[in-house]
Amino acid sequence: MCALGWDDRLERALALRTAVVPVAVPGRVSRVDRGLVSVITESGLVRLPLGPVLRRRRNEVDQCVAVGDWVVTSGGAVVAVLPRRSAFVRGDPERAVSKVVAANLDTVLLVHSLASPLNERRLARELALVREGGAEAVVVLTKLDLCPEVSAHVAAIARVDPRTEVHSVSNVTGEGFDGLRDLTGGGRTSALIGASGVGKSSIVNRLLGEEALATGEVREGDQRGRHTTTARRLLVLPGGGVLIDTPGLRTLALPVEVHAQGEGAGARLGEVYEDVEEVAAGCRFSDCRHDGEPGCAVAAAVRGGTLHADRVSAFLLDTSRAEIGPQRRGERTGAGRPSPPPEAGRRGDR
Ligand code: GDP
Ligand code: ZN
Repeated sequence: MCALGWDDRLERALALRTAVVPVAVPGRVSRVDRGLVSVITESGLVRLPLGPVLRRRRNEVDQCVAVGDWVVTSGGAVVAVLPRRSAFVRGDPERAVSKVVAANLDTVLLVHSLASPLNERRLARELALVREGGAEAVVVLTKLDLCPEVSAHVAAIARVDPRTEVHSVSNVTGEGFDGLRDLTGGGRTSALIGASGVGKSSIVNRLLGEEALATGEVREGDQRGRHTTTARRLLVLPGGGVLIDTPGLRTLALPVEVHAQGEGAGARLGEVYEDVEEVAAGCRFSDCRHDGEPGCAVAAAVRGGTLHADRVSAFLLDTSRAEIGPQRRGERTGAGRPSPPPEAGRRGDR
């Protein structure tokens, strides 16, 4: 449990719980899919449903179970969420439904490539987001082998925020990885945020020391932008840290207006909407438009509260826009119209 980041603070929080729940086993959440939670406990990985209280309160930010959460399991269910150190929330705080994308992060690596000019606007947004979530932000500049001259990037980062710690690495030569291993080791929990193609998967692979995730080449081969490697969300690093890698977190910092226009807009949509795409992979029909088709997993997720109807609307609107642009995605051609979010009118009467 210590390898996963268990500490005295959690021990005390659990002690308060065990007074009420006699047979309580703590664990850390590695994955959440539609009501079934994967929890790593001392005796291994278990997949459990939410208990009745958490099921009822799953739309409350404090009570919805997220990857990285420490939870209490009892009687074959997840019965409580232990207090968080940090939380990354997607959604409108004004609305009832926001979704915690990841919990209990210590460090977030903001990954940028030395091979392109620094996107200062994006970095500023990422820094704000990470600090708001309660974690420490560190910039990681990749592709040091291609661009050994880092001063322009370092100066640009200092302009955004002079306090920012910067590490430069090469995923090809491994240069700079000693520093990255120190940063992500020692029982700490880290995550990566960054645009598509900057080298996030390559960093994860190097830190893990194995080909854990599909890298760019593999992903590009998949026309529908689907991931074949969505199973692992919480990775235990050989250096004794934990790395959380979820599609929702990777793209959390990307506002819609940044990618909905300009070159490559269509190509990038797949990653921006990875959370929707991931659910859509479960639709019965591979060309499902999520517009009332039978067996539509997107509609089911909206009904079940795991996907926000607004996010689906934005996805449908953006994909229809991308389709009429030069870069068509997959076989979904000729739509060109925004569809209403599935079941949007029926929310709340279930
Ligand atoms: P992600 O989309 O952020 O996960 O990026 P990937 O890790 O999939 O990398 C995208 C592409 O950039 C792949 O072709 C990688 O081989 C390449 N790449 C990543 N990091 C480096 C690096 O440090 N140096 C070089 N030369 N190529 C890199
Ligand atoms: Zn569908």
